[in-house]
This record gives sequence, structure tokens and C-alpha cells, in this order.
Amino acid sequence: MRARDEKTVKMKPESEQAEIMTQTESSILYDTAVVGAGAAGLTAAIHSRRLGLKTILLDGREKIGAKILMSGGTRCNVTNQKVSEQDFQSERRRSVRNVLRAYPAERTEDFFRALGVELVLEPGGKLFPSTHSGRTILEALTREADFRGVRLVTGCKVDSIRRKEPFFELGGKGFSIQSRTVILCTGGLSFPTTGSDGSGYALAQAMGHSLVETSPSLTPLLTADEAWKKLSGLTLPVRISLVHEALKIAEYEGSFLFTHTGFSGPAVLNISRHWIRLKDPGAVLTIQFLPGIKEEAFRAEMGASLCAHPKMKVKNFLAARLPEKLAQTLLDKAEIPAERILNQLSKTEREALIRVLFRCGLSVSGSAGYAKAEVTAGGVRLDEVEESVMESKLQPGLFFAGEILDADGRIGGFNFQWAWSSGEAAARGARRRVDLLGKES
Ligand SMILES: Cc1cc2nc3c(=O)[nH]c(=O)nc-3n(C[C@H](O)[C@H](O)[C@H](O)COP(=O)(O)OP(=O)(O)OC[C@H]3O[C@@H](n4cnc5c(N)ncnc54)[C@H](O)[C@@H]3O)c2cc1C
Repeated sequence: MRARDEKTVKMKPESEQAEIMTQTESSILYDTAVVGAGAAGLTAAIHSRRLGLKTILLDGREKIGAKILMSGGTRCNVTNQKVSEQDFQSERRRSVRNVLRAYPAERTEDFFRALGVELVLEPGGKLFPSTHSGRTILEALTREADFRGVRLVTGCKVDSIRRKEPFFELGGKGFSIQSRTVILCTGGLSFPTTGSDGSGYALAQAMGHSLVETSPSLTPLLTADEAWKKLSGLTLPVRISLVHEALKIAEYEGSFLFTHTGFSGPAVLNISRHWIRLKDPGAVLTIQFLPGIKEEAFRAEMGASLCAHPKMKVKNFLAARLPEKLAQTLLDKAEIPAERILNQLSKTEREALIRVLFRCGLSVSGSAGYAKAEVTAGGVRLDEVEESVMESKLQPGLFFAGEILDADGRIGGFNFQWAWSSGEAAARGARRRVDLLGKES
């Protein structure tokens, strides 16, 4: 980096900045250059410094950590009490398992506790900072990075990485940096306004890596059906399935939200990647609106109500079990008149009612795409990465961590756990590589 192009160090007090700003970056050889200062990059940089590596952390944006701040409805679901490869989708789940086992959720809890952040447990095993603010997490990470002496440079987008034996040269507008190792933590394509615009994939591909096809994951789904859109704002627990050509592709239980454009909530977000990757717009989602009740038990309940209250309106019978507005919409879908009473229900109507309650087909017209996706499915192939240390099998000295890799978790803190685990492994790998280079020279 030439003097006129030098970037301001955001985290240092001004007195120290002055000293750093007079340095010419191109004359420094770093042990590791971490590209991307999101969850994975901050973790990789902190652990690299803890392991004694001279570390620079570069980010294309002026402000870092946007996803940490917006995550979990700004509360940041840091991890989950129980994390396994079953919570992820990947072409190489075994690699995901090994990475997670080497740095499990308990290590994440210990890591943040040591930084003064207590995590509190919520239903579904989700762990959040006790302050219920993602800012607590971002500040703890940036404070630790600063304390350890990570050189953070923002507003520096890396456009190229070249091997210039015995090190790498990273280039961008007006700067070039030399480093013995590189850790790519550039995220995927989800929520591109946060800085993850997919440029990391191009950097990986230029180094010879190939990708598992990417697609949005954990993104809302859209519908053209006005009847559903009218229920906007309504939320309830459901079981949701994606069945294609008589094959169940995926099934989730959880909260479901009607929106003014379609469907959202954890159950929908979880199933979205399966619907999108199926690439069949005709594929229908099937909803069970009474997930806690078996169909046979419901039939028996209806029979008992019919005996006890034969004049009860079907609408009221349903409204005791479901939000009233939804009950009315389901009756419309089953083509049952609003005033129908229980003992007037024909066999056909009864079966239609059972169908909309237990196997209601939702037609989906599309998805909200990467713009609203919490994570990217697909990415750098895990079989091209030595998973114990996240090192490229094609380019020794190049490492990967976080969302850029082919692993996407469901809702519940799993994607951050992947970032913490793979970030720590990559730092260990960088340390090992630097040691090997030292022995060779
Ligand atoms: C709305 C929302 C809510 C979420 N909630 C949760 C949650 O509660 N729990 C959970 O586990 N997960 C959640 N996630 C997912 C989680 O945020 C991501 O999985 C995680 O942040 C990925 O971390 P990362 O470091 O790999 O990538 P990112 O956080 O995307 O960071 C990548 C960084 O790299 C930088 N960059 C990109 N290209 C370059 C380049 N060429 N040069 C320099 N810098 C570059 C970007 O500016 C960015 O700062 C949520 C995501 C979203 C969008």
C-alpha cells in the first residue's frame, strides 16, 4: 500500500493510528491475511494472534459485522446447546461433523465467557447474549481482536490473490499485501448489502477451487394466492413438508408466518433452500396446521363434538383450535359455507376439511432470494479442503472459514457455530503452515 493510499485503522486509539498509518504495508510480510471481518474472519484473526501469528484482517466495507448486528432479530443467536452435522446441509456432511466436533458449542460458550459475555438459553437450545444484543458480540470480538494486536483494515476489498513464492500477494484498489498464508472468510451471497457479494467465490475459483452450486437459503417464500396474503401478520406453529413426485424431500416443525408477499417464519425459512434447489416451480409445500394432533385423534374429537354439540358451527369448532381468520380461510379453501353446522357436514366436506388442516397445499411463486437470505447454500467444495485445519488441498497456505464453504445450517444458531468452528480450525492451520514454512527456509 503506498503512503497516499493508506487506510485508517478503525480500532486503534489515534496516537497509535498515527504510527501505523506511516507504515508502508507492502514492506510488511504478514504470517496470515484474513479476508473478510465477519463472524468467521474475526474468529480466525483472534485465534491467529493468540497463536502468535502476525495477522492482518481486511474487509471491503468501512463498517464491519453487519450480519452479527442484524442476526437473530438483532439479538444474535450465537450458537445452540446441541449442534451436529444433522443441523446442516452440505455435499460433505462428514467434514461438517469433524469441524464441529473439533470446536463444539461448549467451546463457543467458554470463548465468549472469557470475553465477559454470558450466553442465556432459550427454547430450542438457542443461546443468546444475556444483553439480548448482537452489539455485545461484535464489541467483544473487536475488543479482543484489538487487544491481541490484530491489524484491522476496513474499506479494503481484495480483488486478487496471487501466489508469489514463498508467500501470497493480495491486491485491491491502491494496495497490495504480502502474507505467508491467507484465510478466506468472505461469506457467500446472502444479504449482499452487508458486504458479502460473492467476490470470495471468484477469488477461490481463481486459485483453482470449484463450487457446489450456490442458492439462497433461509429466505422467505412468495405466493400469488391473495387469500394467504390477507392473513399477513398471523403466526402459528405448523409442520411443513416438501413432497416431490411422491418423495418427501424435507420436513420441519416450527413457527410459520403469513406475510404480505407470502410465507416466512423459521419453518418456512428452513424449508426454503429445498424448494429453491428443487428448481420445480410446480413443487408444492404441504402444511399441517395442527402439528400437535394426529389426524385420527382429530377425527375422534370432531365426532365427540358432533354428539355433544350437533348445532355448533364448524367455524367455531375450528376457531377453538386455530386463529379465527385462518379458520375462515381454511373453510373457504375446503369450499365449506361459513355458516355450516357440524351435523350438516357432508362426507366430502369433512374430508376436504381434514385435507386443508392436515395436508394443505401452498403454491409458491418464488422466493425472496439472496436479498433476504440469512445464508447461502453451496459454496467452496469441502472435499477440496483438509477439514482438520480448513486448508486448501490445491493451494497449501490458503484456508477457508464460514459461509463461503459448502455448509448451511438451519435456524437456531448453527450458522454462527460453523463460523466459530471453522474460523478456529483455519487459524490452527495457518499456524501449522507458518511453522512448516519456517522449517523449510
Ligand atoms: C438477517 C440475518 C439473520 C441471521 N441470524 C442468525 C442467527 O441468529 N444465528 C446464526 O447462527 N446465524 C444467523 N445468520 C447467519 C450468519 O449471520 C452467517 O452465517 C454468518 O454471519 C456468516 O459469517 P461469515 O463471516 O462467514 O460471513 P459474513 O458475515 O458475510 O462476512 C463476510 C465479510 O467479508 C467481507 N468481504 C466479502 N468479500 C470481500 C473481499 N473481496 N475483500 C474484503 N472483504 C470482503 C464482507 O464485507 C463481510 O464483512 C443470519 C444472517 C442474516 C442475514
